[in-house]
Amino acid sequence: MHTHTPFTNLAFCVRTFGCQMNKHDSERIAGMLEGLGALPVESIEEADIVVFMTCCVREAADTRLYGQVASLKNTPLRAGTPLSKRVVAVGGCIGQRDGERLVEELPHLDVVFGTHNLGSLPRLLEAALEEGGHHVEVLDAASSFPTELPTAREHAWAAWLPITVGCNNFCSYCIVPYVRGREKSRPLEDIVAEAEGYVAAGVKEITLLGQNVNSYGRDLYGSPRFAAVLDALDATGIERLRFATSHPKDLTDEVIGKFATLRSLMPALHLPVQSGSDAVLAAMNRRYTRGHYLELVRKLREALPGIALSTDIIVGFPGETAKDFEDTYRLVDEVGYHQVFTFIYSKREGTPAASVDDPTPRDVIQGRFDRLVDLVQQRAFEANQADLGAVVDVLVEGASKRDAGLLAGRSPKNQTVHAPLPDGVSAGELAGTVVPVRIDEAKTWYLSGTLADDGAAGHAGAADGR
Ligand code: SF4
Repeated sequence: MHTHTPFTNLAFCVRTFGCQMNKHDSERIAGMLEGLGALPVESIEEADIVVFMTCCVREAADTRLYGQVASLKNTPLRAGTPLSKRVVAVGGCIGQRDGERLVEELPHLDVVFGTHNLGSLPRLLEAALEEGGHHVEVLDAASSFPTELPTAREHAWAAWLPITVGCNNFCSYCIVPYVRGREKSRPLEDIVAEAEGYVAAGVKEITLLGQNVNSYGRDLYGSPRFAAVLDALDATGIERLRFATSHPKDLTDEVIGKFATLRSLMPALHLPVQSGSDAVLAAMNRRYTRGHYLELVRKLREALPGIALSTDIIVGFPGETAKDFEDTYRLVDEVGYHQVFTFIYSKREGTPAASVDDPTPRDVIQGRFDRLVDLVQQRAFEANQADLGAVVDVLVEGASKRDAGLLAGRSPKNQTVHAPLPDGVSAGELAGTVVPVRIDEAKTWYLSGTLADDGAAGHAGAADGR
């Protein structure tokens, strides 16, 4: 029950670009607006308030944002709206970076906020609703970790839990340290209290978030404490625990060991390598070598032989030679990832790499990229074959988008799994539960199988070796 606020019965919609941190911020925004009596809607057409959570890591997101905000000018208001104009807000990285410039270029934009003042959004929107005009507020740094904001979660059974914000690494292509600020860790007691709340509310899976979770605690405790976070989260009784993102230079043996010992830690790790060439890694300021990375992979597989690894790769970084690319290609071949997110380098103004010119023709870079994608697909297909015949625990997310008669969910290794729904049971009824599925088909991007009726899926199935 809400008391009447300026938001009561207004319809809002949040559009998110970019990373999980942004998705989590969007959930917090939805939580705040719902708490004030506004109603979430799916489409921009139905919304009185539209909030864009933006990302400036990739150039495409910039272009999309400007296009989408511009096109709103011509989108009619919904029938029955009490407003004479739709209220539009832009936050996140582009809000932080561009501030006032955004309202100069997009005059029908009402509110701009940054990465450090999510909690100010209701106040800024309220001012726009009541006074009209532009309301821009961007702060240089957060005074404290914004932990107290309510969150509206996309799925009742899964939660993202930020443990750090910001980044101290200054990879030469990345804008994040400039727009998200220096790394700040959240006190361990706060993290545990939030996780305990989720467990009590029936959440099955928590994903810990940070630009580099491995350095968690350095600012608060003088040395990284990420392994202690994993122990403490496991002790809350959460069923599934994951984390992102993990910088290879800071991944310790202690954290690697947790994959072998912690009940809840899922057998999957995203470990962005970016390049397999030492020269390119140095130019990227990644501060590890190809050899160090491969040694981490060896240790991870020693700790947990079936672990599923995923990574990010940038193709065409300024100065990348044919030999550098071959080093990347060989590394991807050698590791055998379950998934690789491949990107062609795109320049981000304001980063050191943006001032380096590269004469390599675009079609050469595209050719490298296409070759790499073929290899990625082939190796992902091969990696998935290991699960054929295994019974895996699937956390059901709902019906498959392609076929309403199939359930879709996630395996412990984070693979998408499809299986026919039992007669008379809807995907909605199973959503949020864990069901055993016997895998009888393994494709490049998903597994499919049938519900195993004995209900006796081992943890992650036999193929994980645990
Ligand atoms: S670790 Fe590097 S790529 Fe990741 S957010 Fe920090 S600077 Fe950017």
